[in-house]
Amino acid sequence: MTSAALHRPASYYQDSIAVTAGPFPALEESRRADVCIIGGGVTGCSAALHLAERGYSVVLLEAAEVGYGASGRSGGQILPGLGTDIATVEKALGKSRARDIWEMSRESVRLTAALIERHGIPCDLAWGYLHAAVKSRHVEELKAFQARLATDYDYPALQWLEGASLQEHVVTNAYPGALYDAEGGHLHPLNYTLGLARAAQHAGVRIHEHSPAVEVHPGQPAQVATPGGRVTADYVIVSTNAYRGEGLLPDLDGRIMRAANYMIATEPLSEAQVAKVLPSNDALSDANFVLDYYRLSADRRLIYGGEVSYDGREPRQLRERMDAKMARLFPVLEGIGIDYRWGGDVAITLNRAPDFGRVGSNVYYAHGYSGHGMSLAGLAGQLLAETISGQSERFDIFAAMPHRSFPGGKWLRTPLLVLATQFYKLRDRL
Ligand SMILES: Cc1cc2nc3c(=O)[nH]c(=O)nc-3n(C[C@H](O)[C@H](O)[C@H](O)COP(=O)(O)OP(=O)(O)OC[C@H]3O[C@@H](n4cnc5c(N)ncnc54)[C@H](O)[C@@H]3O)c2cc1C
Repeated sequence: MTSAALHRPASYYQDSIAVTAGPFPALEESRRADVCIIGGGVTGCSAALHLAERGYSVVLLEAAEVGYGASGRSGGQILPGLGTDIATVEKALGKSRARDIWEMSRESVRLTAALIERHGIPCDLAWGYLHAAVKSRHVEELKAFQARLATDYDYPALQWLEGASLQEHVVTNAYPGALYDAEGGHLHPLNYTLGLARAAQHAGVRIHEHSPAVEVHPGQPAQVATPGGRVTADYVIVSTNAYRGEGLLPDLDGRIMRAANYMIATEPLSEAQVAKVLPSNDALSDANFVLDYYRLSADRRLIYGGEVSYDGREPRQLRERMDAKMARLFPVLEGIGIDYRWGGDVAITLNRAPDFGRVGSNVYYAHGYSGHGMSLAGLAGQLLAETISGQSERFDIFAAMPHRSFPGGKWLRTPLLVLATQFYKLRDRL
């Protein structure tokens, strides 16, 4: 990332900002700090805030503007769990560690709510989440998941809904059933991110926008260079997720792939339309591998996400396809106006579990939430702060998760991933 003039894209979120944070000046000099954080999304802003609250001096460098990345573009669903099945975690780390991770994922949602409350962030937090079956095999899978969480994870909160009880939450015949989770919810992701940045600034963090880190030199102290300046710090946190330029942490380059995801926001729905779409104001995602997800904004727009691209090119007839899907789910929305459309990059790992770790003794990273980072990224920031303050036990539980590079090397990784996704898309249709 080299441009000094990247701005957040046009989106519904950008047009409904309710938090004043920034603009922050570009770094034009050399600075000394305890910690230099690279990346101003939820991970970076949360780490900055938690470190400053512990008394560390912190400089946060953002290549574009705070919230430029996934955190300012996301579907805004805050959910317990990870981007991967908990069974994958169990297989890799054993049941006891998997339980720790599950509990921390629940904690991440509570932490999100607590940060919003503590820092007075106006970001339209609402509760209720549905994970909807599209096929009959999903029904079995979701019921097995519910049983496993109840017996092995002490999580009895999931409720299976179908028929009339499901229609109280989502008014469509498209789903044979859904798991309802009262612990999940949704929020305005850009206002949440800006609210964290504002809180971090108030806690003493020096934030610099339009200040891409172009080099990281680990060492004691570490050095981070931007086009206009330099930060010398005892610790560095790299929280650039999918938006990272290759080369900042070259050893990790093959472990994260970018997947573009697309969102639309309709015009505001009438009360009558809301009653025929999402009367309980829940968030929903379906159980397909390439999933669709949606929720209502505070001003009653349907914020609908789906479709994916790995080569950076927008899928053909994107808008028509999203329109058609929406109308199939909710005939009452046929012909509704679409006021906004935007895309963003998700960072995925091969096993879809987040990738936390360290390079050398004082450079830390947390990324690869695989489309499930809105609340986990906030917890990652807290765990990074705990680790730098000498309590790394919880961070290390995540860091123990083994990660491999995507197969195919630098040139074949993307084509192989496209092929694999085509396979899963086909499977979604069966
Ligand atoms: C369209 C979309 C929908 C999503 N929906 C959901 C959802 O509903 N629920 C959910 O849980 N998750 C969702 N996600 C994922 C979630 O948004 C992310 O996991 C989370 O926001 C990651 O936060 P982050 O701070 O790690 O990364 P980001 O928010 O991507 O922040 C990284 C920042 O680093 C900056 N940066 C990059 N390189 C440099 C550099 N060299 N120097 C300085 N700064 C740099 C970028 O400009 C960027 O601002 C979605 C993502 C997308 C794209």
